[in-house]
Amino acid sequence: MSKSAKDKHANVRISTEVARQIRQHARSNLKTEVCGVLIGGFEDGCTHVRASIGGANAAQGGAHVTFTQDTWEHIYKIKDRNFPDERIVGWYHSHPGFGIFLSDHDTFIHKNFFSAPEQVAWVFDPHSDEEGCFGWHSGRLERIPRFSFTDAHGGEPANAANKPEPRRSPDPDSEWEEETVRNAKSNDNDDSGSDEDLSKLARTATMIFSHLAVLLIGGLLVWYFLPHIVVLPVPVDPQTGRPLKEFMDRNFLNSLSPNSAPAPGNSPAPAAPAAGKPQTKGNDAQP
Ligand SMILES: [Zn+2]
Repeated sequence: MSKSAKDKHANVRISTEVARQIRQHARSNLKTEVCGVLIGGFEDGCTHVRASIGGANAAQGGAHVTFTQDTWEHIYKIKDRNFPDERIVGWYHSHPGFGIFLSDHDTFIHKNFFSAPEQVAWVFDPHSDEEGCFGWHSGRLERIPRFSFTDAHGGEPANAANKPEPRRSPDPDSEWEEETVRNAKSNDNDDSGSDEDLSKLARTATMIFSHLAVLLIGGLLVWYFLPHIVVLPVPVDPQTGRPLKEFMDRNFLNSLSPNSAPAPGNSPAPAAPAAGKPQTKGNDAQP
């Protein structure tokens, strides 16, 4: 335990799958706390969380969990069987409905069971979905201003090495949540990024096509229902100056007034609207 290790915040990388399992465990009991240990290793000055073991038989007295002898036996049995080469890099527990912090009791647990400088405490509130990570800093337990999620293909932090380090904000506490959310998004999965792009593209295309469809349908409706203006050369009687009656009967009336009776042999289309129009003369329009 060199002094320099205690002087800076632990650099924590937790697998998204482990974070999901912890949330699931915490949501399984919304009234009392649940707890467990974090499994992984310390590499490159970084605490890697690659798995977790739920603390069966943990005493849940009131607000605080306690790691009993039975809890430790269960944890070591699972660890020796499933993760023989990994280490216990910390612990997690839930705070159902009372926020993210370490109580005196939590600090007592951390000092007694997880005193290595790289070991961390993960806290999740299943009511608010808030989560936080605590570690040693200058000999005290403090909330770690940033941690990153890693993709967990085969338990390895596959993408962690290529991720740019998030910039440290001047006021870690106020920016912490936002940064965590951003980390969760950017580190989640390389595939999800392109999926997001694709779905965005699909949404845009759908929007454009639906707008085009609405325009097209609107245009068709307007064309169908509005009276059509048809320019026709009308022969005029040179004596009266009025349109020739014969022409009016045959063409003009039929083409411009759908409600008037169709002449036999002409377009049958105007027959339909006759039903609802009392003034329509029907078939006896012909003299
Ligand atoms: Zn607690």
